[in-house]
Amino acid sequence: MSELAIAREHIDVDAQKVIRHLVRNGYQAYLVGGCVRDLLLGRTPKDFDLATSATPSEVRDLFRNCRIIGRRFRLAHVVFGRKIIETATFRANPREEEAEGDGPPGELYIHRDNVFGTAEEDARRRDFTMNGLFYDVEPGQVIDYVGGLHDIKQRSVRTIGDPNIRFREDPVRLLRAVKFAARLGFDIEDQTYRAMITHRADLQKSAVPRVLEEIYRLLRGGAAAESLVLLREVGLLTELLPELAGRLEERPQTLEPYLHLVDQGVAAGEVPSSGLLLVLLFAAELQALFDEEASARVRDPLALVDEVLGPLCARLRVARRDVERAKLLLLAQRRLFQVRKKGGKIPASLAHREGFSEALALHGLLYRVARQAEGLAPAQIEAEMSAWPLPRTSLLGTQDDEGAQAGGEGRRAPAESSERPGRRRRRGPSAEDSANRDLAASHFSRSALDDDEPVPDEDAVIAAFTAALGSRSADDE
Ligand code: ATP
Ligand code: MG
Repeated sequence: MSELAIAREHIDVDAQKVIRHLVRNGYQAYLVGGCVRDLLLGRTPKDFDLATSATPSEVRDLFRNCRIIGRRFRLAHVVFGRKIIETATFRANPREEEAEGDGPPGELYIHRDNVFGTAEEDARRRDFTMNGLFYDVEPGQVIDYVGGLHDIKQRSVRTIGDPNIRFREDPVRLLRAVKFAARLGFDIEDQTYRAMITHRADLQKSAVPRVLEEIYRLLRGGAAAESLVLLREVGLLTELLPELAGRLEERPQTLEPYLHLVDQGVAAGEVPSSGLLLVLLFAAELQALFDEEASARVRDPLALVDEVLGPLCARLRVARRDVERAKLLLLAQRRLFQVRKKGGKIPASLAHREGFSEALALHGLLYRVARQAEGLAPAQIEAEMSAWPLPRTSLLGTQDDEGAQAGGEGRRAPAESSERPGRRRRRGPSAEDSANRDLAASHFSRSALDDDEPVPDEDAVIAAFTAALGSRSADDE
């Protein structure tokens, strides 16, 4: 890439409208952050975020279709149908603004982030140089206070300012560095890389929900396998997933093949649910449930699942619905074995359950990985699977809402899902998704589905979970 440029037609028209209106009223208003980075890299941005000199109330006064969100730092959302243009007032890094700071001396962790500032301050408070660029739409100019253009050309992840400070201010940036390096295929600049190693333990200071969210983003960002490699390299795996780190350090191959398949699914526009991701993280420990013979010997599969998933889910306060989903995916496997081996029908109560197509997909995923490990070529595996008396699903089978929500940023779903290096076009939670779902349903009714057969065993088990989960009450965000 010699010259970086942004073509006007790649910029969301509504974002342009908001900018024009703000500028006409005397404010500065720029595209900012991920969208500028992605446009410069020829990728389709997930969202178009704006930064402006107007305060949230001033933005609201200018747009009828505007609502203000957030208590701590207020943001204006200008709404166009399902699309939201997030319009944030320039902010400064509170650490630099407030000499006295909020915490004890020497403490860099930022507790507050709500000080308005100038455009330049706003650029400098951002995490990485590639994320600190503004784009001034009318003249078509990148405004670069942080050396971001250079680093994008070099394909380099570099913190804005001293990495030893920036990672300690907000250790979630450690995970963000991994995410961007893996997703964009960038290198991590030397000093930044060394600081990541030095300050990796600071991750423990971060708020649990943010860390969990970043784990999901890493896993469904389209470069999960590469993220795992990087996490291991910088020693973040032990900080992030201590329950798994020992195994993954020694035998990364117990997770990698699953992540490669997840990345392929994501590249095709699918969104793995958080429940599916949990299952795959612990695939090695749950092996007994994936094998027909072994699973017949597991007396209490639920107890096994609880034992395996419990500690991580408790520590990271995984939402109850995600744990439930993981359990459903796992429970369905036994019945799928039976149908696969002996023919028979998939009970309607199972087939219609939300997430069932993902259970089927998991079945395929587990099979693929097992056969790959035995040295079979993908084409051979596909041929074997096409003879199964089971409905075909896409790779991840996540066509229902849960997965879509899970992939989103809370603003629009699914967002992160379709990102991966070099990928330009992304697919939303689209008509295609529901078409796939319908396809799966029609397969059921034509082949293995029996509308009437009750499945007391599964239902009882599911009811038991739900009750057990209720009493344990994992934090549901
Ligand atoms: P993505 O494509 O994954 O959404 P993004 O760069 O847009 O990437 P967001 O998490 O949406 O990432 O954040 C938007 C922008 O906010 C970033 O580009 C960055 O400028 C800034 N930002 C986000 N998180 C941080 C952070 N922890 N510290 C400093 N700046 C941040
Ligand atoms: Mg973004």
